[in-house]
Amino acid sequence: HIKERGRNDVMFFDKALNAQAEARIQLEENLRMAINTQSLFLVYQPRFDIAGQRVLSAEALIRWHHPIRGMIPPSEFIVLAEECGLIVELGRMVLRRACQAAKDWNQILERPVPVSVNLSARQLHSEELVSDIEAALKSADLAPELLELEITETMVIKDLNTVIKTLQSIRALGVKMSVDDFGTGYSSLIYLKRLPVSTVKIDRSFIDDVPGSEDGESLVKAIISMSHTLNLRVVAEGVEEQSQLAFLRQHQCDEIQGFLLAKPDHPSKIHALLSHELNGSHSATIP
Ligand code: C2E
Ligand code: MG
Ligand code: MG
Ligand code: MG
Repeated sequence: HIKERGRNDVMFFDKALNAQAEARIQLEENLRMAINTQSLFLVYQPRFDIAGQRVLSAEALIRWHHPIRGMIPPSEFIVLAEECGLIVELGRMVLRRACQAAKDWNQILERPVPVSVNLSARQLHSEELVSDIEAALKSADLAPELLELEITETMVIKDLNTVIKTLQSIRALGVKMSVDDFGTGYSSLIYLKRLPVSTVKIDRSFIDDVPGSEDGESLVKAIISMSHTLNLRVVAEGVEEQSQLAFLRQHQCDEIQGFLLAKPDHPSKIHALLSHELNGSHSATIP
């Protein structure tokens, strides 16, 4: 009996694994087909000054509208794209579109509003990255200072010296860089000091803890002052509450990003938000 059941279980697992593998191959195929179509698109989330009044830049965040499954979050398909080797092509598309969007909105503005783009680990280790960035800037005719790239600490631990060389080449183009999700990786001062970055983005999980938790507050304060010591700007991610904003303001955080002030939105909305500001009315005052 037991033998019999064991065999059935194995068969069951075999089938389940096959189904899973097939679903995955299917999804990869869908993703490959979606690249360079409108089912993959970018939304933009503004970053505000600490008063919550001025939009200082906007971050491009990718979305995938799958024909059958509906919206699939980037946390799911970026990993897939990395694993099946589509990420470099996907990343190239993101760079091109984000640079074009920044070009569009900067044509109507009196002051520069940069765009930031998230890089993935595979992209950072790809030979094509620097030339892809150059090509995206050139095709949109965008000033390099208007592009910022976000990397995470975990991306750089593998082969630090090579990564630093790549980042230096990017820096030489005039493109800015920031460390995203700060605090969740190795958070070593060595990285912050050696990487040619200008900004640190404190991960949302830390912002969740302030104000209120004593340890949480100390951590956020420490990250801010340490970053300032290294001449880095500090952005808080995932600000949802007025009390968080007040805390961050009190402790000299430089910029904030989060649902409290603005959710990621379609480029036309960002365009409208920025052109409103141009006409003198405040579009982004705190609710
Ligand atoms: P991230 O770069 O740290 O982006 C911040 C994420 O937090 C975004 O999720 C954003 O929608 C969300 N967020 C912003 N403010 C708040 C808030 O106040 N509360 C909450 N709960 N969430 C907030 P999203 O768009 O789902 O992106 C998740 C991650 O996927 C990003 O984290 C980034 O690592 C990655 N990603 C997104 N777009 C791209 C892309 O074009 N390329 C690459 N390589 N990765 C991307
Ligand atoms: Mg980011
Ligand atoms: Mg982040
Ligand atoms: Mg993240």
